[in-house]
Amino acid sequence: MGTADTANKDLTFSLAEKKPKVVFVLGGPGSGKGTQCAKIVQHFGYTHLSAGDLLRAEKNSGSENGIMIQNMMNEGKIVPSEVTIKLLQKAMVESGKDKFLIDGFPRNEENRAAFEAVTKIEPEFVLFFNCPEEELERRILNRNQGREDDNIETIRKRFKVFLESSLPVIEYYKAKGKVQEIDAAKPVEEVFEAVKVIFTPKVEESCWCRCVIL
Ligand code: UDP
Ligand code: MG
Repeated sequence: MGTADTANKDLTFSLAEKKPKVVFVLGGPGSGKGTQCAKIVQHFGYTHLSAGDLLRAEKNSGSENGIMIQNMMNEGKIVPSEVTIKLLQKAMVESGKDKFLIDGFPRNEENRAAFEAVTKIEPEFVLFFNCPEEELERRILNRNQGREDDNIETIRKRFKVFLESSLPVIEYYKAKGKVQEIDAAKPVEEVFEAVKVIFTPKVEESCWCRCVIL
């Protein structure tokens, strides 16, 4: 077995030991995943891992996959699971934390199945930021983050990939009763009000009754 294989096994092993809590954060490009994740981190102590940011960092590090990642991102295509999952596993282990928001992943069925098969982690739930395409386009064209893929041509490709490949992942988790959907077309603070409700621990009704009676 090569050293790379051994390193992957080690990563998988340390993660399995920890049994981290994972929330997948999904939504079209520009739906506010990153913005809302930053706020969830501040209020609820999760660690934010953006698959897109990890891939951008990997591309910039001059790794052997750099050119491939760059080409795929510029076309709005989905980078092979193997690459993304390895980056996510590494980031989870290196963080030393155990509560993660995984933003922008899994983007297709294959991403989803491979992540579950490799890490043995099932998400607690999926946070889905639902937003119409016109609003997504408007936001991305105004945000000016210097991203090569934030041009009208690539944005449309990314949205098409979202509809064709990522929505089925959301449907898969919906069928399992695991999707928390948010109307993401509203202003940031209003969206966060809805997000807060989802992350705030609920007091069990039965407990309330008991407390009141006692
Ligand atoms: N990407 C990918 N796999 C992932 C996450 C991102 O291949 O798991 C690529 C894909 O090409 C995508 C780009 O990275 O279009 C940007 O992703 P990011 O999540 O940063 O952008 P967003 O969709 O949130 O605007
Ligand atoms: Mg993002």
